[in-house]
Amino acid sequence: MTAERLQNHIDGAWTDSDAAEVYEVTNPASGEVIGLTPLCGAEEVDAAVRSAARAYPAWRRTPIQERIQPLFRLKALLEEHAEELAAVVTRENGKTLPEARGSVRRGIQMIEAACGAPSLMMGQALEDIAAGIDCESVRQPLGVFACIAPFNFPAMVPMWFFPFAVACGNTFVCKPSEQVPFSQKLVWRLIDEAGFPPGVLNLVHGGREAVDTLIEHPLVRGVSFVGSSPVAEHVYKTAAAHGKRVQALGGAKNFVIVMPDADMDATVASITDSAFGCAGERCLAASIVVCVGDSHAEVRAGLVRAMGEIEVGDGTREGVTLGPLISAAHKRKVEERIAAGVEEGAELVLDGRGVKVDGSEGGFFLGPTLFDGVSPTMSIGTEEVFGPVLCLMRAETIEDALELARNQPLANASSIFTTSGRHARTFRYEIEASMAGVNIGVAAPMSFFGFGGAKGSFFGDLKAHGREAFDFFTDRKVVISRW
Ligand code: NAD
Repeated sequence: MTAERLQNHIDGAWTDSDAAEVYEVTNPASGEVIGLTPLCGAEEVDAAVRSAARAYPAWRRTPIQERIQPLFRLKALLEEHAEELAAVVTRENGKTLPEARGSVRRGIQMIEAACGAPSLMMGQALEDIAAGIDCESVRQPLGVFACIAPFNFPAMVPMWFFPFAVACGNTFVCKPSEQVPFSQKLVWRLIDEAGFPPGVLNLVHGGREAVDTLIEHPLVRGVSFVGSSPVAEHVYKTAAAHGKRVQALGGAKNFVIVMPDADMDATVASITDSAFGCAGERCLAASIVVCVGDSHAEVRAGLVRAMGEIEVGDGTREGVTLGPLISAAHKRKVEERIAAGVEEGAELVLDGRGVKVDGSEGGFFLGPTLFDGVSPTMSIGTEEVFGPVLCLMRAETIEDALELARNQPLANASSIFTTSGRHARTFRYEIEASMAGVNIGVAAPMSFFGFGGAKGSFFGDLKAHGREAFDFFTDRKVVISRW
């Protein structure tokens, strides 16, 4: 079977890319090449941006009730095709079908939230700020926005942005990860059916050159990025230097604190799901468990038991709970991190390397891996691994545990497991991560709340979705009138 070469969607039409270079997309469960992503250059990205810029004046003037109608239709189409989309996500990303279904559901919820634009985009008004003078603040769209997405949530991440951007009257260019282009191909097929005017939503494929063209393009007013921290920082600095607003969501090293008073069965189940769900390729995955006081023995024994029950395999198969990693290269990188952990003196309690999956010999599988005795000076204790690897640390008190988290440069999400309201309060008050969970393994993004990390996990000020999306995608103008 020949691998399909992906097309761009510009000005309301599918177009072939003339890019000479392509990225070979693989099915991570088999290693088979399933697609070729064209690595589009500046000219094709420019065509997508210009298409969005042409569509902007009319779209901006379209009454807001009319602007959200295609979003309602898109929501209905996504519901109809949710199972098909989940299957595409699993095929190109590797996560299990239930995980893929969950991510599609979260994406659809973004569209639902964006349909609240007529209320959420409202400004403020006050009469008689001086005698006979009224004042109002209105929110206005800005023009062309762009998003640059990572590989780990191929369907959902672009939906964190484009529904809100276009509901506010902006037009949009999406660049998915070159590693997972098929999910957005399906989403754009549905966008086509939903009846957005040509050019309002554009899709362009590529890698580094496409990104650099978008973040420097004079017609792009704002950029939403999700990916690793080094690239997030590059995007933030470059786009800001080119006068754009930017929200750049980066990598993670998520701390989980377990107090001795925690409900251990529930805690272990939550941590196992958090660390190994989506093969650990989740920016909210538990990465370090800090066992406080005498919680350590029970946590370790519970995790070893729970990890023994994890079923590694092809994510399309019933009962599989840990799918493959995204690529052979990423699997190698995670294995190198494990080797470094061993070299640095951490105790490798469970080693997922060398796992075999019958019938899927070409897949990029790695079994669940557990380290104990990890210290914050080890690379395994500080660097993002983005794989099914969990590390245990120990602390005497909650303050010591918080100090360990505080010394970590990344701060996306963090959780505490406790039955004490006082400990929960100390944690939520002190923790720097901007997604904080209390007895929750994955403090997941909710469409109606803002989302983004802190410290080295986020570059920018206005976070994604929720009410903050309406701040990011609009500018506020104050009008003072006397008649
Ligand atoms: P990545 O940074 O390698 O790639 C992200 C995007 O940037 C892709 O579209 C890619 O084409 C582009 N890109 C890659 N290198 C580039 C470069 N040098 N210059 C310009 N553009 C470049 O990230 P990834 O491997 O696709 O995704 C995994 C990372 O994303 C992890 O670090 C994870 O924590 C992070 N992530 C964060 C969140 C969050 O909400 N904070 C959510 C999902 C993923």
